[in-house]
Amino acid sequence: MTTQSNTAPSHAAMNQFHAEANQLIVAGMPLERLAARVGQTPFYAYDRGAIHSRIAELRSALPDTVKLHFAMKANPMPALVGFMAGLVDGIDVASGGELKIALDAGTNPQEISFAGPGKQDSELRKAVAAGILINIESFREIDVLAEISNELKLPARVAVRVNPDFELKGSGMKMGGGPKQFGVDAEQVPELLARIGERGLSFEGFHLFAGSQNLKAESICEAQQKSYELALALAQHAPSPVLFLNLGGGFGIPYFPGEQRLDLSSIGENLKQLADRAKLEFPQASLVIELGRYLVGEAGIYVTKILDRKISRGQTYLIVDGGLNHHLSASGNFGQIIRKNYPVTIGNRMNSTDDEIVSVVGPLCTPLDILADRMRLPAARPGDLVVIFQSGAYGASASPQGFLGHPGVIEILI
Ligand SMILES: *Cc1c(COP(=O)(O)O)cnc(C)c1O
Repeated sequence: MTTQSNTAPSHAAMNQFHAEANQLIVAGMPLERLAARVGQTPFYAYDRGAIHSRIAELRSALPDTVKLHFAMKANPMPALVGFMAGLVDGIDVASGGELKIALDAGTNPQEISFAGPGKQDSELRKAVAAGILINIESFREIDVLAEISNELKLPARVAVRVNPDFELKGSGMKMGGGPKQFGVDAEQVPELLARIGERGLSFEGFHLFAGSQNLKAESICEAQQKSYELALALAQHAPSPVLFLNLGGGFGIPYFPGEQRLDLSSIGENLKQLADRAKLEFPQASLVIELGRYLVGEAGIYVTKILDRKISRGQTYLIVDGGLNHHLSASGNFGQIIRKNYPVTIGNRMNSTDDEIVSVVGPLCTPLDILADRMRLPAARPGDLVVIFQSGAYGASASPQGFLGHPGVIEILI
């Protein structure tokens, strides 16, 4: 929909949405009407239909026996988590707060898992009482859980989060391999498993998560295969059979110019082979993959209104009413090394042929508050609506909303 210049690579087509009579259409509603319905800008809108089709597409590419979990830190909006609970097989939480939202959403506790490097004793207690699966990430957690389990007279259901001895190649954010605060190093896992048995915890499986935001299917397949092999080797030390084998996720979405959507077919093939092996090698286990941004990222937009337009020494600035305070990722300050533009458009001038190179900046008094840096966009003026695509994950909850004291952002699920 937008390109940076005629020679630069372009963004992937944002064809999860379409336009009519200049308006971006979101869940059947023209953008200006949607903005009126919300009653304010800026806002995030998440399209149920787009999430639904993404999950359907994924289900048809993956073997039926592979369970699909939603990693809710990507988007913890309670209404959205409630919607997801009806579409996925389970939810992965990373705090006591997320656990509450997942339980409120009606998720079966059997299919909720809890990971995170710094779990508080109070969070572990809630988790045991709820009956969810806890991904153990240290020796200390075993002792705390054994005490809680005795006190509550309830089993502590645990899986071991393994810090693998390999990395996810081409991953935007590595979360395994080398020294890491996540999980327990593969070489320490046999001892950890023995301790789990001694302390009488209920061992249910392994969790391996190598990294995030990967657009290379071959790397994802390789990581899943290596994770499977590692789990198979470690299972020999387990006190009881493996019931869950969580192979992680890491499926990326195209954010930046030149990036393309992931090819699911080879990932589906690879998982099918692993699922076939698992029937023999892990006869009691469900294979699980956990995805955050891939499920919801492309279904969300951030909408912010142009307040002002000015030219500084030849460069045109559109100044909008929200910025990095609501959307840190689009400003390039959430895990990016070199700032690149998200796909952006003017949502009420979709069919305009009059375009220009502009920078879209937020209202904050910091030069970091950039939403689009010298991008070719339809010519726009104050009152028009800037839309940032690929905003359904790591948006509102991953942004410093208190910074500079502007009003918070509204989120809607439509
Ligand atoms: C963050 C996280 C995810 C989700 O990552 P995405 O890139 O959003 O898919 C999955 N599993 C674990 C353990 C995580 O920490």
